[in-house]
Amino acid sequence: MDLYEYQGKELFRRFGIPVSEGRLATTPPEARAAAEEIGGPVVVKAQVLTGGRGKAGGVKLADDPGDAEQKAEGILGLDINGHVVRKLWIESASEIAKEYYLSITFDRGAKRVLFMLTTEGGVEIEEVAATKPEALARLHVDPLEGFQPYQARRLIYGAGIADPEEQKQIAKIVEQLYRCFVETDAMLCEINPLIVTPEGEVRALDSKFTVDDNALYKHPDVEEMRDPEAYPPEERAAREKGVTYVKLDGEVGILGNGAGLVMSTLDVIALVGGRPANFCDLGGGGDAQGVVDALEVITADSQVRSILFNIFAGITRCDVVAQGILEALSQIKIEQPIVVRFDGTNAEEGRQILADAAPPNLHVEPTMLDAARRAVELAA
Ligand code: GDP
Ligand code: MN
Repeated sequence: MDLYEYQGKELFRRFGIPVSEGRLATTPPEARAAAEEIGGPVVVKAQVLTGGRGKAGGVKLADDPGDAEQKAEGILGLDINGHVVRKLWIESASEIAKEYYLSITFDRGAKRVLFMLTTEGGVEIEEVAATKPEALARLHVDPLEGFQPYQARRLIYGAGIADPEEQKQIAKIVEQLYRCFVETDAMLCEINPLIVTPEGEVRALDSKFTVDDNALYKHPDVEEMRDPEAYPPEERAAREKGVTYVKLDGEVGILGNGAGLVMSTLDVIALVGGRPANFCDLGGGGDAQGVVDALEVITADSQVRSILFNIFAGITRCDVVAQGILEALSQIKIEQPIVVRFDGTNAEEGRQILADAAPPNLHVEPTMLDAARRAVELAA
């Protein structure tokens, strides 16, 4: 789950990382009131779950409350990379002497946590990595040893930061960011820019924060930060119904039971020249209600042109899944053709149930490969 800038900063603040004072606003008058409370010049910042807001006109300085109201008027409703601005963060404006970059994430290849720090902040990190890789200091943290203070110093020297006052503050921020990352079960915490003010004070001016969905049960306060309106309707429905759903880019909607089977189904679809639109994993269950829920979620995705049901039943029983499919067809109107492949426990019985009911637009195929071919043909 991605957090908004203001939510990430709230977490930074809790771990002691310095951030500017700010308020949330959803209307221009609220932006004015926020600017009045904060006092002095402010920055009006679009809150959207995407980067590059500055370039898109979503970050504006305002000299006084009236100006903040005007800037808010201009930013609310703006479309930034497909995200419509509904919330603003009004923050006390900072004077910037230098812009650095600091992040912590997983280096999956190295199986370690990775810090990155560079004095070339403010721009996209990919650009720095491509054009000035020598300016990007990297540091791995061993998960068993944990973070050691000397590592912060090594990172800071590596980035060529020589000012002792900056070194001291950044060393502290690196340590706090490590704790923040570990204790919130984050997958990415990025501060770009990490600024130095003309007075030499170091502060996080932006936050990009991703937390691990699978650890959210441990963090109800973070879970609460989820904004349901930021997600497409089928993703919202999936979460409400407890369906495992992943959106992809193609045309074939996929329903399977078990992550391994679903992954191979994606491969087989690709093998026969198709592209999956999404997938739902029914898990070990596959009871009638589970099938109804999953079909509802899958068909809410307007990109789906055909649906492939791939069931290899162990504990799951194909006859129960067949009942679920018929149940779903009686409850919801499904426009797209459905292709079914059953194997394993009660596969014969399942096929018989579907053959007896013979719903229109439903095709039963004997193998995974045949079913994938059929689904791809029907999506064409
Ligand atoms: P992003 O474009 O989505 O990464 O949004 P940022 O929060 O990083 O803001 C973009 C840029 O706006 C920053 O790199 C700064 O140069 C500028 N900016 C943001 N806040 C302030 C501020 O308080 N004062 C000044 N002078 N510039 C700011
Ligand atoms: Mn930024």
